[in-house]
Amino acid sequence: MTPPRLENRLPPEDLLERDDHPLRELAWLAGASLALLAVLVLVTGLSARWLAPRLPFKYEVALAERVFDDEKAVVTSADAAAARARRAALQALADRVAAVMALPPGMPVVVSDDPSDLVNAYATVGGRIHVFHGLLRKLDSEQALAALLAHEIAHVKHRHVAANMGHGLAVMLVLSVVMPEGAAQAAQGLLSSAAQLALLGYSRDAERQADSEALAASVALYGHAGGVATLFKVMPQAEDAPAGTAWLRSHPDTVERLAALRAAAAAKGAAMEGAVTALPGVLKALPAAGAPKS
Ligand SMILES: [Zn+2]
Repeated sequence: MTPPRLENRLPPEDLLERDDHPLRELAWLAGASLALLAVLVLVTGLSARWLAPRLPFKYEVALAERVFDDEKAVVTSADAAAARARRAALQALADRVAAVMALPPGMPVVVSDDPSDLVNAYATVGGRIHVFHGLLRKLDSEQALAALLAHEIAHVKHRHVAANMGHGLAVMLVLSVVMPEGAAQAAQGLLSSAAQLALLGYSRDAERQADSEALAASVALYGHAGGVATLFKVMPQAEDAPAGTAWLRSHPDTVERLAALRAAAAAKGAAMEGAVTALPGVLKALPAAGAPKS
């Protein structure tokens, strides 16, 4: 038997020009892109919740601008002036509170109110803070509202929002770095109505940190912790929380919070009571209670 003859064939001369499979390269590229996309989605999915709070805050701001900034058009013309005045009053107080909280540069805080009767407030992506009218009705002083804003601003400052957002939203935030428009559209649905409440359940440590920042900001602004104590007494107990409001259930109960507040205030030498200021009229004259926005 003769061994097979090995030969060194020259490549065909037209190798670089041949076009017998004009779509082959395209098909290969498309397949590779799909595979790459699949890997990207998988990797992003696995790491999004780790990555989200570590991304520069500007990506949250950009996502929030795309998702929330058409909200302003929702206000009907008859209520527009009052609504603008309310937002201005809330924003002015939030700015004063934020000024004593040493936020990193590039971390704006934007407050808005919601006509829902829920006794609640929350911070969401991009430093956006929403306060429900149900809670505003129960806060009887500027000091209590400032304590609430300081608590929510602390969740923004320490990136608790990004660290605790739902998996889907974390993926969208990470993807928004490379495809801002598409990610914003996907995030819109995730941030609407009940979903936005359900996604926010902070750890007890995060809540303690936010309470401690609320105390520090209150003492810096007013010289006492009275507003924080009022806030804690006004917030509903966890067991009274309506279904779906993970935010409320995640907060420590009133007795525990007040005890921790008294201890922390005593350690700082801060008074638990002091002068209080009435809320501005625009924040007391709220329109008749509305249904939660859907
Ligand atoms: Zn909180």
